[in-house]
Amino acid sequence: MSSIERIIFIDERHLESLLRSGIETYPRETLGTVFGTLKKEKNSFIWEVSAVHPIQLATRKEDEVKAYENIVNEDWSMINPHIGNYHSHNYDFNNQDRLTRGISKEDKEAHSENSEEIELIINLYKIPKRFRLTNNPQVISGNLPLENIGYYRFDIIGYSWINKRILRTKMQTTKRFYQKVKELNY
Ligand SMILES: [Zn+2]
Repeated sequence: MSSIERIIFIDERHLESLLRSGIETYPRETLGTVFGTLKKEKNSFIWEVSAVHPIQLATRKEDEVKAYENIVNEDWSMINPHIGNYHSHNYDFNNQDRLTRGISKEDKEAHSENSEEIELIINLYKIPKRFRLTNNPQVISGNLPLENIGYYRFDIIGYSWINKRILRTKMQTTKRFYQKVKELNY
């Protein structure tokens, strides 16, 4: 059990949706639901994302976001099964160790531990210069140009729950995603 490999696969279309959701509300937090399939094999669990949906009815602060109470069918599996959630964290890039800024204690407590769900954290910052990308396999990062005054830096970190154990989870995407992000930088 301890050796189950955990992988989240999310292609460039759904990553774009996540980034747009985070940028739209920046510097306030965003949140939403993630749909797709969970493939369980003997030695691996693979969550493949096939849709993401930003929750529109929410109260947003710079360090907190909450969906309205009694929101209708927030995680309703309509066509694609619900496999998890996402939200953003917007910190001052200069004052934080960005790679330690993953899921918080409150985030963990808000989650149902019995699920086999994922949580994606979008760390988003405005920065004056591009910052080197991480080689951490549990993070997808990039720099998006921002109206000639700098960049949006993003680091998307994946988490998953199996048997009540939450762990950082390997994030995989397409080559096309990295190519596109790179093209935007020059
Ligand atoms: Zn959080």
